[in-house]
Amino acid sequence: QAKHLGTHGVQLHDPSMTDRRKADSLLAEDLAGALDRDELHVLYQPLVDLTDSRPIGVEALIRWRHPRLGLVSPADFIPIAERTGTITAIGLWVLETACREITRWDGLYVSVNLSPRQLQEPTLVQDVLGVLARTGLAPDRLVLEITESALVDESAGIAMLQEFREHGIRVAIDDFGTGYSSLHYLTRLPVDILKIDRSFVAELNGTPEGSGITEAILRLSQVLHLTAIAEGIETAEQAAELQLLGCGVGQGYLFARPLPPTELQDLLLSPSPRPSSLS
Ligand code: C2E
Ligand code: MG
Ligand code: MG
Ligand code: MG
Repeated sequence: QAKHLGTHGVQLHDPSMTDRRKADSLLAEDLAGALDRDELHVLYQPLVDLTDSRPIGVEALIRWRHPRLGLVSPADFIPIAERTGTITAIGLWVLETACREITRWDGLYVSVNLSPRQLQEPTLVQDVLGVLARTGLAPDRLVLEITESALVDESAGIAMLQEFREHGIRVAIDDFGTGYSSLHYLTRLPVDILKIDRSFVAELNGTPEGSGITEAILRLSQVLHLTAIAEGIETAEQAAELQLLGCGVGQGYLFARPLPPTELQDLLLSPSPRPSSLS
C-alpha cells in the first residue's frame, strides 16, 4: 500500500483522499478473492406488470458479504471491479448463477447487468451463448442491461448488441436519461427495452412538470416500439401515475426488494398479487 500511496504523493496532503484510496485498494485486493471464497451472491428483484402487480421477470443484483465489513454495496465495489478488471470474472459468474437459478421459475425472464468493461471483451457473445448452452435457458428468457455510457463511441459494443438480438437475447438500456448521449444517438441503438431511471420516477407528483421526462421517455419508447420499464417505484401514487401515462412494467420497493431465491419462491407462490393498491 505504501508504494501505491507514494506514487500518488501529491494527494497526501488530503487525508480523506488518502484514506479513500487506501480503502479502495484494500477492497480491490479482497474482491480479487471474493469469488473463490464464496462471498458473492445474487438477489432477484421482481419486474412486475403494473396492471396486476404480477412478476414477469426479475433483475439479478449482486451482493458481497465481506468477512469483516459486512455487506458491501455494488455501487461501491462494481466500480473497483471495473477498474481492476475482476468484473469480467464476476460478471460471468453473476450471469451463470442467474441463468441457472431462473430455470426454476417457468415463465419468468432474468435481466442481468453488464458493465462497460464486459462489452470490451471480444469473447463476450461467445461467453453468454456458452452460459445459455450450459444452463439450458432459452435466449428469450435473458435480458442484458447496459448503461448508455458503455456504448458511447463503441462500435464494437454496438455490434455485440446486434449479435445478442440476432440470437434472441433482449437488450435494455439501464438508467435511461441519466447519461450524456444525444437522443439521436440513443434512438439508433439496437435495443428492446428502456429502463426509466428512478430519479425521474421520484419526480412524479401528479403535475406536468413532475412527469415531463417520464412522459417523454414513454412517448419515445412507443414510437420506437420499445418496452419501457420504470425503476424505483416506491409509492402507490407513483405506480398509479405511471399506469395512467401508459407505462406497463415497473420495479421497486413498493412491489418487492431484491430477494434471495427462497424468498422469491415464497412470493411467487403467494396466491394473491401484492400490493392491491393500484386501482
Ligand atoms: P441498477 O442496475 O440500476 O439496479 C437498480 C438498483 O435500484 C438496485 O440497487 C436496486 O436494489 C435499487 N432499487 C430497486 N428498487 C428501488 C426502490 O424502489 N427505491 C430505491 N431507492 N432503490 C431501488 P443495487 O442492488 O444496490 O445495485 C446498484 C447498482 O449496482 C445497479 O443499479 C447496477 O448498476 C450495479 N449492479 C448490481 N448488480 C450488478 C451486477 O451483477 N453487475 C454489474 N455490472 N452491475 C451491477
Ligand atoms: Mg440494472
Ligand atoms: Mg437501473
Ligand atoms: Mg439505476
